[in-house]
Amino acid sequence: MGIIEKMRLDGRSIFVTGGARGIGKSVATAFAEAGADLAIVDVDIEEAKKTAAELAEKNNVKTIAIKTDVTDPVQVDAMVKEVVDTYGKLDAAFCNAGICINVSAEEMTFEQWKKVIDINLTGVFLTAQAAGKQMLKQGKGSIINTASMSGHIVNVPQPQCAYNASKAGVIQLTKSMAVEWAKKGVRVNCISPGYIGTDLINSDENLKPLIEKWNAMAPMGRLGKPEELQAVCVYLAGDASSFTTGSDFVVDGAFTCF
Ligand code: NDP
Repeated sequence: MGIIEKMRLDGRSIFVTGGARGIGKSVATAFAEAGADLAIVDVDIEEAKKTAAELAEKNNVKTIAIKTDVTDPVQVDAMVKEVVDTYGKLDAAFCNAGICINVSAEEMTFEQWKKVIDINLTGVFLTAQAAGKQMLKQGKGSIINTASMSGHIVNVPQPQCAYNASKAGVIQLTKSMAVEWAKKGVRVNCISPGYIGTDLINSDENLKPLIEKWNAMAPMGRLGKPEELQAVCVYLAGDASSFTTGSDFVVDGAFTCF
């Protein structure tokens, strides 16, 4: 089989958390264009339904939308069951839902800390664990977690200690699961994007004045676009990446190089 064929995902069953918008929607679009059947998973079910309908219509694939809060193990298990009941299997999982709260370390409340860690780290653990259990039964599967360049560096000037800690946790969680499951056919990798122009950044009025500062620090002088994360995720989801596990793919336009 040639490399282009190996990059195809025809008939694969994949769920995407945080799939309604932003990076999740963009990567889900790429999975659909590569032929995969999808579950768009999000707390915002109305937007998830719209995304699912749009991707099915444009790409002639099957899609469903599932309302799930990734911090709730009962909802996460039910979500994976629904995906497997619908498509008969789970080939890949994109554990991507995440949030950021910018507050200085000394002013951060316990609730703010817990919310970020619960969604970004515990949520990725719960979704990757539930996906992994199904994939271990199948003897095959690929999990992609969304970390961040914030797992490698401390972003400035905005204070975001909980976010940075959560993303460093995602990178090490990814490697730990990859090692545990390497001989069992289940691969686990993560992506570490730099600043990407999505709602997470664009809808936060406090962050808008910072974009110019970030761009001044960025070797490429600009934010990334969600579609610039698509190819690496399609590669990781399918058979082209059969020897790739425990890897963290930094896609940041060289932001973390110096
Ligand atoms: P968006 O805010 O655009 O999208 C995130 C989606 O996740 C939203 O639809 C959101 O729903 C949903 N979501 C939030 N909490 C939960 C939850 N508990 N359960 C299920 N879904 C939830 O963010 P991005 O697309 O920018 O970010 C996606 C991922 O990429 C995150 O993990 C983020 O940390 C990471 N990332 C983003 C970067 C960036 O610059 N944008 C850079 C590096 C990493 P709702 O809006 O209703 O809350």
